[in-house]
Amino acid sequence: MLDFVLEPGRDRALRNRHPWLLSRSGEVRGAGDAAPGSSVRVVSSDGEVLGYGDLSPASSLRVRVHHFGKEEPAEDWFVRRIEAAIARRAGDPSLAATDAHRLVNAEGDGLPGLVIDRYKDVLVVKLQSAGMHRRRERLAAALPGLLPPAEVVCAWERADAAACRREGVPVVEGPLFGDPPSAKVAIREGACHFEVDVIHGQKTGFYLDQRDARAWVAKYAPGRDVLDLFCYSGGFATAAAQAGAASVTLVDSSAPALETAEHHLQANAPDCPRTVVKGDAFETLRGEGPDFDLLVVDPPPLARRRSQVAKASRAQKDLLLHALRRARPGALVFAFSCSHHMGPDLFRKIAFGASRDAGRPVQVVGSLGAPSDHPVSLDHPEGAYLTGLVLRT
Ligand code: SAH
Repeated sequence: MLDFVLEPGRDRALRNRHPWLLSRSGEVRGAGDAAPGSSVRVVSSDGEVLGYGDLSPASSLRVRVHHFGKEEPAEDWFVRRIEAAIARRAGDPSLAATDAHRLVNAEGDGLPGLVIDRYKDVLVVKLQSAGMHRRRERLAAALPGLLPPAEVVCAWERADAAACRREGVPVVEGPLFGDPPSAKVAIREGACHFEVDVIHGQKTGFYLDQRDARAWVAKYAPGRDVLDLFCYSGGFATAAAQAGAASVTLVDSSAPALETAEHHLQANAPDCPRTVVKGDAFETLRGEGPDFDLLVVDPPPLARRRSQVAKASRAQKDLLLHALRRARPGALVFAFSCSHHMGPDLFRKIAFGASRDAGRPVQVVGSLGAPSDHPVSLDHPEGAYLTGLVLRT
């Protein structure tokens, strides 16, 4: 096995069990080919073995550490951790009312680079690191045995082209085992039914991470005029309409997403009046239009890098300011950031700025984040990417 030798003074984060080593923290030594995904032993500058991880030679995130300490990991460690992740979900009462959830949440489950979502009997797998790519075959062989055979018929691999480039691995999408799924998998979440396009849909097909927030929206929706901005397949609007909203208005720039959203509304709440707008959410919100009693503002990540935070904060404030202008007295605004660079503290400051500029005092009545099937390791705060605030005007 190759050694990744840390520069002097670069061992603190690792000793605190942080799983990421950046390129400047050390270098690979030893004979052999440092191919993408190679296993490395992480060694301090004075030769102490501190852990084991996967090498990404082309990425600034150079090593993802999966074991801390001297002891070498067993060959099948990742299979055992997947097993443990599955067992944790099986006993989780928050997941009882749905047949779709995240089965493995990367660093949050001690499996850096591996995401597995389960949509009823279909698994969608993302191998986000070179190390996990190297385990593809072993994963494909092990997965069917980890869930009762009748429960899962296939696993489909999805890939993010930019991440594959960073990791120096080819972009692969296709079956890991089983026959390819029919594109739309029908899932249930509480009283709602959704159809998930696991092959072409965004992320792995559905925003499972907003499940708890959908339940909040459903609780407050009855009798309200609801705006779902950046609606994708209309998860929020559908939950609201099904729960008895007076009307729902949906905005997104993606035509296929809106088509699915229409379908979800028709299937779950055919009588709820709806307006579906294909267009830019910023412009739609700024323009003339009706006011609302419940607004959901769930944009895509506005700050993908730290350097984008200032610009993203201005965009986020602009959105919230205009959302407040369109909010009737007593309205609720569900506002989200899905970038860990824009975390809870900054997000509150942005909301404060919007409230001040709108001349509207605002109460915070709730804080939201990803649900229990998206656990975040305390050792890895970057895993907490989703921040939500429930604001009352
Ligand atoms: N709220 C959704 C997820 C939102 S993801 C849910 O819970 O399922 C962000 C969405 O914003 C995507 O569907 C994307 O198509 C859309 N989008 C991105 N930029 C946009 C823009 N400028 N105006 C409108 N929609 C946009």
